[in-house]
Amino acid sequence: MVTATVPEQQVKIGPTQLLINNEWVESVSGRRFATINPATGEVICEVAEADAPDVDKAVQAARNAFNNGEWRRISATRRGELLYKLADLIEQNIDELARLETLDNGKPLQESLGDLGLVIACYRYYAGWADKVQGKTIPISGPYFCYTRHEPVGVVGQIIPWNFPLLMQAWKLAPALATGNTVVLKTAEQTPLSALRVGELIIEAGFPPGVVNILSGYGPTAGSAIARHMDIDKVAFTGSTEVGHLILEASAKSNLKRVTLELGGKSPNIVFADADMDAAIAGAHNALYLNQGQCCCAGSRLFVEEKCYDDFVARTVEKAQQRIVGNPFDPQTEQGPQVDKEQFDKVMSYIESGMRDGAQMLCGGNRVGEEGFFIAPTVFADVRDDMKIAQEEIFGPVMSIIKFKDIDEVIQRANATMYGLAAGVWTKDITKAHAIANNVRAGTIWVNCYDVFDAAAPFGGFKQSGIGRELGEYGLQQYTEVKTVTIKL
Ligand code: ADP
Repeated sequence: MVTATVPEQQVKIGPTQLLINNEWVESVSGRRFATINPATGEVICEVAEADAPDVDKAVQAARNAFNNGEWRRISATRRGELLYKLADLIEQNIDELARLETLDNGKPLQESLGDLGLVIACYRYYAGWADKVQGKTIPISGPYFCYTRHEPVGVVGQIIPWNFPLLMQAWKLAPALATGNTVVLKTAEQTPLSALRVGELIIEAGFPPGVVNILSGYGPTAGSAIARHMDIDKVAFTGSTEVGHLILEASAKSNLKRVTLELGGKSPNIVFADADMDAAIAGAHNALYLNQGQCCCAGSRLFVEEKCYDDFVARTVEKAQQRIVGNPFDPQTEQGPQVDKEQFDKVMSYIESGMRDGAQMLCGGNRVGEEGFFIAPTVFADVRDDMKIAQEEIFGPVMSIIKFKDIDEVIQRANATMYGLAAGVWTKDITKAHAIANNVRAGTIWVNCYDVFDAAAPFGGFKQSGIGRELGEYGLQQYTEVKTVTIKL
């Protein structure tokens, strides 16, 4: 682990109020809350704090826009043009947005820029779909003409997490807007700033009032008010499995709003002895440490075949020790701080539990620096399946290496989890690759690669990793209702 430092840099903050009906407003209560720079622990600024009355106002604006406003009348082509325009504006402001993301979230500037590439691609991808969402004509029996329309679901509540603030905003807004919905989006309380700046660009792009409303606020207050709102037709949530259960429950107890969930994971990443070892070691490193380990699809159960285990572990530890941790604005930095003190403490407690349970800690395990929430890249070897660090989502730079003997055994162990978000496999043997791809129960399988994301490829979870898919054509289905029209001839 190497430490990097550069002097603090100037970052333009942007709006800090709530965006409702294309206007920037304070919250009904007048309350504000602080957002913290995780690299220093210092307050960046305060933002307006939404609660249930603000959610009501935002839903009212979204409902008006959906039922009566300009949005209802504009063509699908025009919706696409607005999304293209938004993508262009984000591209024109890419440096400013990347710096704001890094300041608020702590991720290295290079990674913020990488996220923004995917953000822009996502808006453009769905802009292209806007006028290509269409139904069918169906040859039913009798003297009838029958066809389907794919209509927007209506007012959509969207609750996003803090690990990829701009990217999660794009994954949520782009398909919802392409298909003609209106939106009330709540950002995570740790990272409100970049989404608000995009709010300014949404107004500039020309989206009519009420189509996109953006609220900063806490989960149990503003988030919960969205989940149980009687006039929200669908909620799309990305976050922990624990809160996913609450969202589904709130839907059941309110108006049966449609629910899509993208939740946690404990994804197996499986390395066979016949793999290209350099690629597997680099791939496993990135699969785990990317974004400070704060990825729902992190390859956090690293299964390594017995035959190559010792060599793999030694080289993996060496690589982890070389990872550059430090000021996220330094272009050399590979790893910034965890997002806040709560996450920092949680990760440190998992490290303690790994040591208590008898896993071998081969590097890291400690805090880095005096201020901020930095944790050294940590490697545990000889991890057993029943240990807490092999079962629960750590969401930090803590690798758990687990030994396996053969393919049937590793498939069974890879599936022995309540999660099913993603999996990776490293092998030159196409039969083994297919066996893993076909038999591991997860929404995405990466073969000889990891974390390859594209707006066109669907992403989502089996089992308790979620409900529904985001991205790609599949993502559109979650934002439309099918209407059957039958006409007597
Ligand atoms: P994490 O534990 O990683 O912070 P959460 O699932 O708690 O993940 O948070 C993800 C998003 O869900 C955030 O926007 C947060 O405010 C929101 N959230 C948290 N609790 C609730 C809740 N009870 N109802 C609705 N949203 C919530």
